Amino acid sequence: QSTAFANGLKKKELVILGTGWGAISLLKKLDTSLYNVTVVSPRSFFLFTPLLPSTPVGTIEMKSIVEPVRSIARRTPGEVHYIEAEALDIDPKAKTVLVQSVSESEFFVSNVNYDYLVVSVGAKTTTFNIPGVYGNALFLKEIEDAQNIRMKLMKTIEQASSFPRNDPERKRLLTFVVVGGGPTGVEFAAELQDYVDQDLSKWMPDLSKEMSVILIEALPNILNMFDKTLIKYAEDLFARDRIDLQVNTAVKSVEPTYIHTLQSGQKASDIPYGMLVWATGNEPIELSKVLMGKVPEQTNKRGLLINDKLELLGAEESVFAIGDCTAHTGFFPTAQVAHQEGEYLARTLDKKLEIEQLEWDMLNTSDETKVSRLQSEIDLKKSKLDKFNYKHMGALAYIGSETAIADLHMGDSSYQLKGMFAFLFWKSAYLAMCLSIRNRILIAMDWTKVYFLGRDSSV
Ligand code: FAD
Ligand code: NAD
Repeated sequence: QSTAFANGLKKKELVILGTGWGAISLLKKLDTSLYNVTVVSPRSFFLFTPLLPSTPVGTIEMKSIVEPVRSIARRTPGEVHYIEAEALDIDPKAKTVLVQSVSESEFFVSNVNYDYLVVSVGAKTTTFNIPGVYGNALFLKEIEDAQNIRMKLMKTIEQASSFPRNDPERKRLLTFVVVGGGPTGVEFAAELQDYVDQDLSKWMPDLSKEMSVILIEALPNILNMFDKTLIKYAEDLFARDRIDLQVNTAVKSVEPTYIHTLQSGQKASDIPYGMLVWATGNEPIELSKVLMGKVPEQTNKRGLLINDKLELLGAEESVFAIGDCTAHTGFFPTAQVAHQEGEYLARTLDKKLEIEQLEWDMLNTSDETKVSRLQSEIDLKKSKLDKFNYKHMGALAYIGSETAIADLHMGDSSYQLKGMFAFLFWKSAYLAMCLSIRNRILIAMDWTKVYFLGRDSSV
């Protein structure tokens, strides 16, 4: 690939950190022939997170919601270099990223230079430093997490079946606790109860009746970003489906076999569990914390601070940050936001290059009239570099028993859907959002397979 344009301007190095919603939305929209593009991420594939809660119980196969980054890159106009590595540090002055390879055969550290850097490294699940969460609870953020939950679920069920009925150990093992009544916790609890009611009940009818799913939420309600009528609908459905919803209940510490909680501020009885899934929201990953520590303008501990052009405060000229690694104000950290930010940045980078081309032409001419024409063209283009403007389309959540809720926003109006119709809408919306036809076909096949044959109960 040529490293310079026809007019002699050298192509700039664009480094993108991450292969999630923000990074991949940028990559798909960007004219990659305009930059030397390098993607750095420990994960060599894009993960379609909205369907991740369906994977541990086998409603959707894990391979159906991933798409290799190389396959996405191949469909872009230019060449994209992918490095399977984790970024450890960023030096905004030297414009370098310190990366560490994650492939087992070549475990080394090196520096990658950039002219423009896009930080889209996401976030990790927060534990609020609650003792015992690490080591005892499982998370639901990445594909490995879904694999771990699946393994633990199947093993715990088998283990429980070896104890006689009415044995307290059997009862403990068959208690599945989900902490956090945000959409992750709700969707996973719903999928788990579906699995018990629709599949396990066929293979292990007695045992399935003894299984209980408990959802614990610190606030008075679950799904707080949804309209009140939809929250009530979801809570009523959970009661009908035997999901034990415990609101106003905050987990204070976690032991290997039980959790301590506070209910409305008072100490409540301990809850024994066989499997514990933790979904209490986001906190910055190590790299974001490192960046916050070295850039004085980064004063918010919840995420990276950016301006309305998504430029990192303190490194505005060369570093952008998008998605869950940023401290959002006014909207939730969702795929929808990261996707719109990624697409906006692709347009901005295209426009920035046009400006640089004109500036280069201006530097290389002594013709006064041409200089003044180029200058006004540059000023016009700069004035057209618009701000990022988020358009909230609404929120969707699967709540079990083939029902969903949808809080849709169109202009100044909002519409609420619930039940079976919302479920069909949820399915079509997610199929439409998939990155590739391959994903769409696999997901549609998984849904059809489960409808006719049920979920796979093997590990
Ligand atoms: P991510 O998509 O998390 O991507 C981060 C990327 O950075 C990954 O590729 C990761 O490997 C990489 N990375 C991590 N560390 C480093 C490092 N040190 N160096 C380089 N790369 C690194 N949102 C919705 O709008 N609708 C939904 O239905 C929905 N469902 C969800 C379900 C679940 C179970 C979860 C967990 C989230 C869901 N979300 C949903 C939220 C959505 O997934 C996130 O908001 C979105 O993924 C954020 O995109 P991102 O690019 O910022 O981060
Ligand atoms: P969240 O921040 O949305 O919800 C976490 C919940 O955990 C909160 O309701 C909080 O009150 C509760 N909590 C915190 N500490 C607790 C404790 N000690 N004990 C009991 N409860 C506690 O987190 P999430 O569900 O992981 O979602 C993360 C982000 O991803 C959100 O922005 C969400 O909108 C997005 N997401 C969206 C969808 C969707 O649109 N369908 C699905 C999943 C995630």
